[in-house]
Amino acid sequence: MGNVKEARSPLILHNAFLVTMDPAARVFRDGALVVVGDRIQALGPSAQILRDFSHLAAAESIVDLGSRFLLPGFVNTHVHSSQQLARGIADDVDLKTWLHERIWPYESRMTEEDSYLSTLLCGIELIHSGVTCFAEAGGQHVSGMARAVKELGLRACLTQSTMDTGDGLPENWSASSTDDCIQSQKELYKKHHNTADGRIRVWFGLRQIMNATDQLLLKTRDVAEELKTGIHMHVAEIPYENQLVMNTRKINHGTVTYLEKIGLLRSNLLAAHSVWINEEEFLLQIEFFSKAGVKVSHCPAAAMRMLGFAPVKEMLEAGICVSLGTDGAPSNNRMSIVDEMYLASLINKGREAYMNGQTNPTALPAVAILEMVTINGAKSVLWDNEIGSLEVGKKADMIVVNPFSWTMVPLHDRISSLVYCMRTENIDSVMCNGQWIMKDHKILNVNEEEVTSLAMQASDDLLRRAGIYLPKRMNYL
Ligand SMILES: [Zn+2]
Repeated sequence: MGNVKEARSPLILHNAFLVTMDPAARVFRDGALVVVGDRIQALGPSAQILRDFSHLAAAESIVDLGSRFLLPGFVNTHVHSSQQLARGIADDVDLKTWLHERIWPYESRMTEEDSYLSTLLCGIELIHSGVTCFAEAGGQHVSGMARAVKELGLRACLTQSTMDTGDGLPENWSASSTDDCIQSQKELYKKHHNTADGRIRVWFGLRQIMNATDQLLLKTRDVAEELKTGIHMHVAEIPYENQLVMNTRKINHGTVTYLEKIGLLRSNLLAAHSVWINEEEFLLQIEFFSKAGVKVSHCPAAAMRMLGFAPVKEMLEAGICVSLGTDGAPSNNRMSIVDEMYLASLINKGREAYMNGQTNPTALPAVAILEMVTINGAKSVLWDNEIGSLEVGKKADMIVVNPFSWTMVPLHDRISSLVYCMRTENIDSVMCNGQWIMKDHKILNVNEEEVTSLAMQASDDLLRRAGIYLPKRMNYL
């Protein structure tokens, strides 16, 4: 009985600048929050919460946050966790080299153990940047990812990279048959969905339309619907993709119009990037997304580096749920969602000048960015009934930000400073599912130094096996 009582004993975090991100956009200047088990039991002004709950908690479970900020954990809606060991293998190269000579050889030689280490390394960076939940964009070894996510204490929607057709794949890595693609994902769903105390969910993956037959698109649509899970797919990434769809699928205006035609646009589709919404059919394609309730993951750094400007302002104005992602380490190098918040705001302000000939500093204001990384992120991963805001009854996924450093003071506008000033280093502690997974900058569940060293070794071995040798850029002596 003692243990049961101990497990249910509340944790009280008080004296916090508490940003709830709830529907009423409540912010408590001096707020407190009570965690019992994996959920939020209560929140409100510190004085009231301490009066009502402090007699129930052990002294060490009443934590004074010293006016630090308390926010919902961030949701990163597009990450290639198994590409973390490939950081730096494809910098400053053209798209074809990037994919055919670097990424596909790398991914095709990867073992489940590599994927496990890669996800551990990626997860460490995600946690440092305040992420408590991420959507995997699709990798080869979901079981390796699941093992790492379980150990890290994170929450994730894991997805297999799925392709049943496509040119340029490495010799040892031909596309699978349509049935194998569906079958293997069904098995992964059975094995991992709702595991790790409910922190892991399994989604269906479609790498991109150029690597999917119509049969695969339709079967994925139906099986995901049947299992009530999501589909993660790269959509309208580059002009060539739209062109190929027009040529091979005999339809005007490319990917989005085609996906609409075959009924793939649904509220469980998470469309990554969506940069090249067709110009001639721009408003109609945006309407297709908003009517169907499709979610869009905007990855500003990767878009700037590889793809182009995504019409984020227009999508948000049309009521589309847009969230933020980092993409993978070879397309961005930094897996910090905090950096993406800053970039998303700047890029979409700058894009206005490029599109309309005049600047618009009001585009994508700070609150919109905060929504994108919290509640919109939660909606994008179909989990907003439990995460994405600090509300009574929701899961205790939250972060403690210390703003009292040179990066953020003097804090005249605390909300905007979270977007325009905050750095990853300002995030002190991270809780997921009621458990601290980082405290005072220390990752708690895995040994960060050990993972770093094992990952460096595994990455060298993997590149050697894949025959990837990078040219020296300067005069190495
Ligand atoms: Zn991606």
